[in-house]
Amino acid sequence: MEEYLSRILYIDLSSKRSWVEDRSELFEDRIGGLGVAVKLYSEICKLNSDPFDPENPLVFTVGPLNGLYPCISKTVAVFKSPVTGTYGESHAGGRLSMAIRMAGYGAIVILGYSDKLLLIDIEDSKVCFREAKSLQGLSSLEVEERLRTHTRVMESIVSIGLAGERLCFYASANVDRYNYFGRLGLGAILGSKNIKALRIRGSGSIKPKDAESYKKLFEKIYRRIVETDAMAKYHYTGTPANIMVLNEIGALPTRNFRESRFEHAEDISGERVGEFLLERKVSCPLCPIGCMHIAKLRLEFAKGYEYEPIDIYYNYESMYALGTNLGLKKPEDILKLIYTANFYGFDTMLLGNILAWMTEAYESGLISDSDTNGLKLSWGDIDSYIEAVRRIAYGEGSLYVYAAQGLKQLVDIYGGRDYAMQIAGNGIPGYHTGYASILGFLVASRHSHNSNAGYDIDQQALKRKLNDEELIDRIIEEEDWRNILVSLVACMFARRIYSPDVVVDALRTVGFEYNLDDLMDVGRDVYIEIYRIKSIEGFDPRKIYIPKRLFETPSASGILSEERFRKLLDMYMERRFKSSSI
Ligand code: SF4
Repeated sequence: MEEYLSRILYIDLSSKRSWVEDRSELFEDRIGGLGVAVKLYSEICKLNSDPFDPENPLVFTVGPLNGLYPCISKTVAVFKSPVTGTYGESHAGGRLSMAIRMAGYGAIVILGYSDKLLLIDIEDSKVCFREAKSLQGLSSLEVEERLRTHTRVMESIVSIGLAGERLCFYASANVDRYNYFGRLGLGAILGSKNIKALRIRGSGSIKPKDAESYKKLFEKIYRRIVETDAMAKYHYTGTPANIMVLNEIGALPTRNFRESRFEHAEDISGERVGEFLLERKVSCPLCPIGCMHIAKLRLEFAKGYEYEPIDIYYNYESMYALGTNLGLKKPEDILKLIYTANFYGFDTMLLGNILAWMTEAYESGLISDSDTNGLKLSWGDIDSYIEAVRRIAYGEGSLYVYAAQGLKQLVDIYGGRDYAMQIAGNGIPGYHTGYASILGFLVASRHSHNSNAGYDIDQQALKRKLNDEELIDRIIEEEDWRNILVSLVACMFARRIYSPDVVVDALRTVGFEYNLDDLMDVGRDVYIEIYRIKSIEGFDPRKIYIPKRLFETPSASGILSEERFRKLLDMYMERRFKSSSI
């Protein structure tokens, strides 16, 4: 194992102390990334505590292939989520994983709470706690501009906006301007610890154990990335290519999942935005793909042709949540709303689900003008959505204060449960493809569509029918395998490149001897461990309410039956836990 990987940097905010511990046994057992993060989290986190309890840890981890192979570019964050009330996990790209490794660590664990707003500056072995009063209230984009030093060493900046400072439950954290820890409220956890930003600089280097094999394998992987079509979609149109694909099969959530096709899909498609608004593409270090598509818009900041140019990272998830699902038909409007959400620092997906619920609740009379403070919400009305986001960020009025606490909270106060598009607290992603997408999201350890790709399994089943056992087994296998990719920590877009044989070979070049069975065992153990933590804290998928709307609006697989869904869930539980005590 590369000598610095096993070093864990602990930072205690309460005592303003930091220290390093060597935990090579954790990396030997669990590879790195997710596997190690779950262990570190479970060692410290108090079960059944409040997510904002200062004693709870915030864990960032990287893996043995970060900084060495293309598209192995992610960092894992594990924390207690204010969105679900239990284990939370989020991943982000950018320079962070390389900066952490080059600073000489495999993980950073943040403990305690600071009484003053802080910038934590980590430069190799030095950790400084700096007061960040001058950054208070700024957006992540502004913080990034102020903190970036353009140094020649690897530097990464993680920061939060107003939503994180105000402990909005689903606040995101920005990484290096175009990347996000988007889901499950990492921004709120940073805010609760009074951390405005972390700046990490690393001047070290990362070396493989077997340089000769590494060079050959690197070459092979690189060629697969650039010379096959395995990742072409991400380079050309980016994930917004999904808009037309999903619209065609009738799986594109529209106006709060009331429909599954959007009549303006073509106007807002990835292809159309690419043609007229795309400015450039951005990559994580060591990735030749550049999947991050950046659009340019000008925002009017005063009358009299006063414009400010802004650049906006757009992807499918944000375009569905803050676009089709709100009936916005102009790409410029969708981009403005994405910009607004990122300016304050929200998870764009849950925010979109909340705005969609508010619109439907207002339209049906469940909430009134007195609740919205006079704001008239209607599908496709960009001005009212921008204003609603601003009010949520500042907590102006009780509806907006509850909205800052998530969709579950809104439903508890106002009702409208059947069309509140959340499961276990987290906003439902933009794939109304069939049973596997709902089941996969429900049972996923972090309630993300990326955990087991149920949406993809549904789409494959449209081409070749899967029986119930096959569908369940695919979800289980996919999640176990993805736990390995997230332990490396790989970009999920490169999953077709990093097939099991490639992963085994790549790990060997850095001194890890695993065969495929060992890897699958680690992937499964990680899932079971997370499930165990969640179930002790009360999570039981059979008790989670699934919004009725999902069984009313036709999906790509037709109208779904709740009865059949429940049978599939029972089958999942049986097959997943047949040899486990849970
Ligand atoms: S495909 Fe995109 S997210 Fe993945 S490593 Fe490359 S630039 Fe980063």
